[in-house]
Formats: sequence, C-alpha cells, structure tokens
Amino acid sequence: MSSELGARLSAIDEKIADAARLAGRDAGEITRIVVTKFHPASLVRELHALGVREVGENRQQELSAKTAELGDLDDLRWHFIGQAQTNKAAAIRRSADAVHSIDRDRIADALHRAADDDGILDVLVQINLTDDPGRGGVAPAAARALAEHVLSLPSLRLRGVMAVAPLDEAPASAFDRLRTVADGIRSLDPEADWISAGMTGDFTEAILAGATHLRIGSAITGPRPDRG
Ligand SMILES: *Cc1c(COP(=O)(O)O)cnc(C)c1O
Repeated sequence: MSSELGARLSAIDEKIADAARLAGRDAGEITRIVVTKFHPASLVRELHALGVREVGENRQQELSAKTAELGDLDDLRWHFIGQAQTNKAAAIRRSADAVHSIDRDRIADALHRAADDDGILDVLVQINLTDDPGRGGVAPAAARALAEHVLSLPSLRLRGVMAVAPLDEAPASAFDRLRTVADGIRSLDPEADWISAGMTGDFTEAILAGATHLRIGSAITGPRPDRG
C-alpha cells in the first residue's frame, strides 16, 4: 500500500522535474500540493511519512475533520481549493494555511472578519478561464478589482491566482491567459507571485505556463473513493 503510494509520488515528482527542465525552470521553485479530498486522514498520514508537507482539500467539513485528526502533524500545510461559503469562512480560516478560491469580495470579507488574532492568511484569487459564469472563479476582467479588495484587508495576504483548465480547450492556451492575469495581479503586489494551476491531467502544461503551485490528486493518491 504505502510503497505503491511512494512509487506514484516519486513518478509524479520525476515528471514535474522533467517538465521543469523542459521549461528551463528550477523544479525547486514549484510546490507540489497533494489533493487528498475523499481519502481518509490515514492517507494524509502516509503521505506525511513519505515527506509530503503540502496538502489540498476542497470541502470545509472534510478539511476541519482531517486537521483535527492530524493535529500532531503540525508541519503540514493545508490548502483549501474548493468553493468557499461565507458561513463556513471561520471554520475554513481555523484549518487552512492558504485559501486558493477567493472568487468574490464577500468571501474575502468573511475570511477577514474571521481573523481572531494577528495571524495572516494566504489567499489567491480564483480565475474563471471559461465563458461560463457558473463555473468557479472571477472573470479575468474583474480579477484586478477583486485583488485590490483583498489587498485592502489587513489579515489576508494576497499570494496570486488559481485556476482550473476548461474542459473544452487545450490547457496550454488557457494557462497562457492565466499567466497574463497573474502578471497583472503581481504588478499590484510583488508578494502575489503564486500561480496555482495544473492537476493530474495537465500539470506539465501548467509548469510550461509558469505554474508555481500544482494541485495533484488522483495521479498520486489513486482513484478517489466514492463520494457517498
Ligand atoms: C480535485 C481537485 C484537484 C486534483 O484533481 P486530480 O485530477 O485528481 O489531480 C485539483 N484542483 C481542484 C480545484 C480540485 O477540486
């Protein structure tokens, strides 16, 4: 079990290194987040034993349950990558080290209001790369205004942009658009230099387009258990 997980992890890390080389980039500047949604906390513990320190979850309840169960692993960094609801903002803030899915002013406001100490939460503006406003994220044309709003909230640190590639377009061209948006956001604040993009099916293209944070699930964890 564990050795299979370790083998998949090293195989993906080799592919990341290959893609970085191809892109003329240093693989050390790319953070590989392992998306563990729908898998039990025990899998996260196995990943931790294999050296994984960055993990991603997309549902608040699951994030809260796993961080509670794995409280002894205090060097894990939890990335919240799912749609965030304002009434869950306090719970998300308690458990997450970074929130990739800021798609409207109200969720930024709610996360800011939930700050209970001097802590600073890393956040990314999620960009919708499709023409369908029903998909997650803010339209590229509205990204700058949202980023400026985040910058006005002192308990949030704007770290950059996040996106999921559309299903009906080559990921490379979508990620090129994301990069343009990312450049504009970084010009507002040099700390906003993360580009969170690339999943199991398209992380090579994402690396070529400048992604700094990959969110890879099934290629490492194996197929996700039934969502029930
Ligand atoms: C599930 C998920 C991933 C990982 O997907 P895989 O295809 O399993 O690598 C990445 N990003 C988001 C936003 C997700 O919800």
